[in-house]
Amino acid sequence: MNGLYIHIPFCRRKCRYCSFVSQPCIGPPPAAYLEALLSHIRLYARVDWLKGEGREITSIFIGGGTPSLYDGKSLARLISACRDNFNCRPGLEISMESDPNSLSLDQLARCREAGLNRLSIGIQSFNERLLKIMGRSHNRDQARQAFCVARTAGFENINLDLMYGLPGQSPDNWRQTLNEAAALAPEHLSIYELSVEPGTRFAELSDRRQLTLPAEEEVIEQENLTCSLLEREGFERYEISNFARPERQCRHNLNYWRNGSYLGIGAAAVSCLSGLRLRNVEKTETYIKMVRQGLLPLADGEALSKEASFRESVIMGLRLLQGVSLTDLRLRYVLHPRDYYGPVLHNLIKRGLIAMDGDYMRLSAAALPVANQILAELV
Ligand code: SF4
Repeated sequence: MNGLYIHIPFCRRKCRYCSFVSQPCIGPPPAAYLEALLSHIRLYARVDWLKGEGREITSIFIGGGTPSLYDGKSLARLISACRDNFNCRPGLEISMESDPNSLSLDQLARCREAGLNRLSIGIQSFNERLLKIMGRSHNRDQARQAFCVARTAGFENINLDLMYGLPGQSPDNWRQTLNEAAALAPEHLSIYELSVEPGTRFAELSDRRQLTLPAEEEVIEQENLTCSLLEREGFERYEISNFARPERQCRHNLNYWRNGSYLGIGAAAVSCLSGLRLRNVEKTETYIKMVRQGLLPLADGEALSKEASFRESVIMGLRLLQGVSLTDLRLRYVLHPRDYYGPVLHNLIKRGLIAMDGDYMRLSAAALPVANQILAELV
């Protein structure tokens, strides 16, 4: 096992584009949920198989939702419980997602002391009007302030989440957000195009024709702007949506893109262990109740076939600009993509969309703007 993911499904309020498992929470998140997480960690720590040879944790990611709604003491307890109960590699990456208006110096200092060494701040935009349209609970000043507080607390590895392709967003407007983000000099940027997901407020507005998104050419311009501006600022695009300074790639996410194994703690979290995919129950009340009874809070699971796992390794690996290692695929599955995909892959190579580059198969530069369509051909 390489990664440990902990899910905190609470947010100040639901953003209008969000389809993640999270629920609005007034005031601090429930203490009972934190206690359940601690018990869940201890439950897994008793599973002998998870302690076996090579089952070392190389990264911990506390995500959500908004984990930073918990105070420093609670978060420090959570981090310490992970470190005390699992076989953690020295110097492992420990990340946490956060919202700008839920961070304080005291809280972050406690987290740093407990071992948190990477902070991700969900800024999304520095434009007040767009923040309101998205239904975010913070404003521009709070975003800037959160970054300064994180630096003062000693964080030397900070990610900012940003979004483009937003309703009413022009390329110029996006350039301003990118410039403002770059001026803060974070180590990492995760940059996603807005996708209108079913069940969200944006989807409702879109159905009623009340959501006007930028034209396709404008979105392409925003994407091109992102790559050129960030390259100039010293960031390397290492995954379709992720940019990092040298040596600052997110190790936890690299494990996902390399289709490595991971353990999920918390409501709705997913684990992927030795070809088994397990999903925890989604309702927080059920989760708390099952853990209190000493039960692993599993909702369902599936054993992935060798072929399904191979396809996942290819598709996830192609999200990395480096691509997917053919040697790794051969060692794991005794399969070569050319043999498995036959004419489909041959055609993508012929069209210049996929390149074979030494030991790596990767998307070409021309394929990156239409990556999702290409990956869909390989599912
Ligand atoms: S803060 Fe993040 S997880 Fe919470 S509602 Fe907004 S987008 Fe969703």
